[in-house]
Amino acid sequence: MTDFTLLPDEQRNLYIDGSWREADGGERFVVRDPADDTVLTDVADGSPGDAMDALDAAAAAQHDWARTAPRERGEILRTAYELITQRADHFAQLISLEMGKTLAEARGEVTYGAEFFRWFSEEAVRIHGRWMQAPAGGSRLLTIRKPVGPCLFVTPWNFPIAMGTRKIGPAVAAGCTMVVKPAELTPLTMLALTAVMEEAGLPPGVLNVVTTSDSAGLSKTLMADDRLRKVSFTGSTAVGKILVRQSADELQRVSMELGGNAPFLVFEDADLDAAVEGAMVAKMRNMGEACTAANRFLVHESIADAFAQKLGERMGALTVGRGQDDGVDVGPLINADAVESVGELVTDAVHDGATVVTGGSAPDGPGHFYAPTVLLGVPAEARINEVEIFGPVAPITTFASEDEAVERANASEYGLTSYVFTRDLSRTIRLAESLDFGMVGVNTGLVSNPAAPFGGVKASGFGREGGFEGIDEYLETTYVALPAG
Ligand code: NAD
Repeated sequence: MTDFTLLPDEQRNLYIDGSWREADGGERFVVRDPADDTVLTDVADGSPGDAMDALDAAAAAQHDWARTAPRERGEILRTAYELITQRADHFAQLISLEMGKTLAEARGEVTYGAEFFRWFSEEAVRIHGRWMQAPAGGSRLLTIRKPVGPCLFVTPWNFPIAMGTRKIGPAVAAGCTMVVKPAELTPLTMLALTAVMEEAGLPPGVLNVVTTSDSAGLSKTLMADDRLRKVSFTGSTAVGKILVRQSADELQRVSMELGGNAPFLVFEDADLDAAVEGAMVAKMRNMGEACTAANRFLVHESIADAFAQKLGERMGALTVGRGQDDGVDVGPLINADAVESVGELVTDAVHDGATVVTGGSAPDGPGHFYAPTVLLGVPAEARINEVEIFGPVAPITTFASEDEAVERANASEYGLTSYVFTRDLSRTIRLAESLDFGMVGVNTGLVSNPAAPFGGVKASGFGREGGFEGIDEYLETTYVALPAG
């Protein structure tokens, strides 16, 4: 184990009802550095029984928490925002160590993640109902918004702080209590965030955090309990489907932020340099390990060679290495399986006729690295166009017409993000309306913004996080019929 000092010993434990404590049986599991597989530290391995203690605490705190003043909830979030911002370097180091991304990217994630707290601190005071006269006159119709109740949040490893804050922020603002289960590969950042929430004055029982190596056992146990009213999950479509099925028994409300396979459309009238710049962001953010990552580059046949060459030059010039080292642009992938599956997709594409413009292999030596890769002439039906790549590989396929581009873009089970590069306004409007995706980036490689509704359609799930919509996921509506008086 390395000399790990980034989290006090006490905080590498479960956080239940306002106290840090060990797992029931004292079990622990290790957290590794993806750059070289060394063990960073260990954390408590919570059991389903521990998870039930956490739900007991959340259920007990719900009544009083729902009745706090909205401004009080908003101010706790605002204080937490300030604390995260003050400790941005510390959070960035934790994220980079346990997840692998570069320190610069990790700082970017901290800013993005903290921003959900600032946004929802301001939304807490804008929860409101409606008063109207019935159309036929007479009675008055009143609607009240109330918190949905205790929630379960299950988060992925790729954005260890942001995927937490965009659920915790709106839930706190709405007056919900919660049990959070971070990804077992990256639990440390969530524990540091929990310490911030405690310091910001969140009352005991509102936020409970259970780290565990048995996520399935935890969610199954908690979702069988009718006190749990809402499940919000970010992760793979396969696990999302399991949770949706499990939610049926107690009819919990669900929000599902699942996988993506974003198309990146470049039309013949696009500003090619801007498209390459956008591609670098949309592809290389988080080493390609993002649900929003551009995966299917659809480029008009007249400019595909030029685009591939420019993108290849940019991708080929990136420095791959340990995320904490100076001068590194691209960190390791999360583990050996990730490198293997990216490698297999590239091999398949080349077998199917694609040409390697740059990269195309894992560098020799220790660590889970993969070279930034551009592939040209990838057949539309290649496997790499079907599945989420989750790595730094840009496969380019050509199209001849706008209709063909849209048809190809929509030919995916996923519908999270899409990107469009064109200078034609009419085309932009047509595409925004015809692309079957929850988000469309126009001449930009970055769509994520805490003030915007993030989410997908089809196998990418349902529900929206962020924006004005984000808080609706945590509010129920009660309608009150009143006589005219
Ligand atoms: P994953 O589904 O394997 O794991 C996500 C979380 O679910 C983890 O906390 C894990 O411990 C837990 N989990 C795993 N199996 C479970 C089970 N049977 N029951 C209950 N919980 C279980 O996904 P991942 O590999 O951590 O993350 C990558 C995936 O997440 C990708 O598909 C990516 O596109 C998606 N993702 C989506 C968004 C979005 O907002 N749409 C954001 C980030 C990541």
